[in-house]
Amino acid sequence: MVRRLSFNSKAIEFLRRLTEAFAPSGFEREAVKIVKEYMKPYSDEILTDKLGSIVFVKRGDYDRPHVLLAGHVDEVGFVISGIDENTGFLTFNPLGGWWDQVLLSQRVLIRTERGDLYGVIAAKPPHLLTDEERQKPIDRRNMYIDIGVSSAKEAAELGVKIGDPAVPWSPFMLINNGRVAMGKAFDDRIGTFVIMEATRRIKENEIRHPNTIYAAATVQEEVGARGAQTVAHVVDPDVCIVVEVDIAGDVPGIKPSEAPTRMGRGPSLCTYDSSMIPNQPFKEFVIKVAKETGIPLQLSQIARGGTDAGRIHISRAGCPSVVIGVPTRHIHSHVGLVNLEDVENTIRLVIELVKRLDRETVESFVAI
Ligand SMILES: [Zn+2]
Repeated sequence: MVRRLSFNSKAIEFLRRLTEAFAPSGFEREAVKIVKEYMKPYSDEILTDKLGSIVFVKRGDYDRPHVLLAGHVDEVGFVISGIDENTGFLTFNPLGGWWDQVLLSQRVLIRTERGDLYGVIAAKPPHLLTDEERQKPIDRRNMYIDIGVSSAKEAAELGVKIGDPAVPWSPFMLINNGRVAMGKAFDDRIGTFVIMEATRRIKENEIRHPNTIYAAATVQEEVGARGAQTVAHVVDPDVCIVVEVDIAGDVPGIKPSEAPTRMGRGPSLCTYDSSMIPNQPFKEFVIKVAKETGIPLQLSQIARGGTDAGRIHISRAGCPSVVIGVPTRHIHSHVGLVNLEDVENTIRLVIELVKRLDRETVESFVAI
């Protein structure tokens, strides 16, 4: 079903600023501030943990259940590990999961105490490699960031030092007649965006909900869902919806059994990943609500990898949780692609779920 997109220009501008923000794991402050500025008018209270996450509280008809909506605001990035004495080229370690093959020739932005620097990830050029060397992918340990200097002294003068963070440089843009967004950090600024937009619309349109919403932008997911643990402690959730990107399987070479969802066919519901088996009554509830409201929903499964829900569902005495995904192509690289109609349908699904998560329903998820 094709529906008119309800994004206003302010929302698209928020998405652009959010995805272009500099916020690798452990260095999320810039993105968190952007979310805070956008969400202030729509929240009754703002909470934080002591790791850098932020939570916007929107009160409904009842205090309980506490409904935690979580999206992580950090992105995969890099941290500088050394400066080559002879050349001033920089070595780096990954922040989060990177596949070495997507790194070469990509531009990065490094944040230093003297401001931002641009560079490119480089390695020994193919012209100088032996035939045998050319057959193998280049290891990250043989790559360097070239910031245009010729000595360690020159590099230091620009302000760069060991421990400085870096992210992909990749501007946000709309392609395919404005239907598809292309940019960096969609994992998981898209999830953060969905949660914040859902909360904004509930507030602006005075949509009633029998619970309290805790809309969270968590930190340090890409290095092990660390912010999820501290946010769960702060919120004490009765039920949780994590919104994440899902690996879109409509890419040449991917079998449906490896990644069953396709871009443009609506949000997905994760039925299994290596960090969580979802609460089954809650999972069935999501399927039922999607059907009732005519929102397209795909079923998904990821053999490897986990999400914030992996931590949240085992916080305290446990918390019934599901992961709703937005099918996204090429995650954990410089450029991801996401269909805006999928984003819109995910926002609608989150709103419809929040409207229905009353005490009785949430209690039924754990009744024996
Ligand atoms: Zn993620």
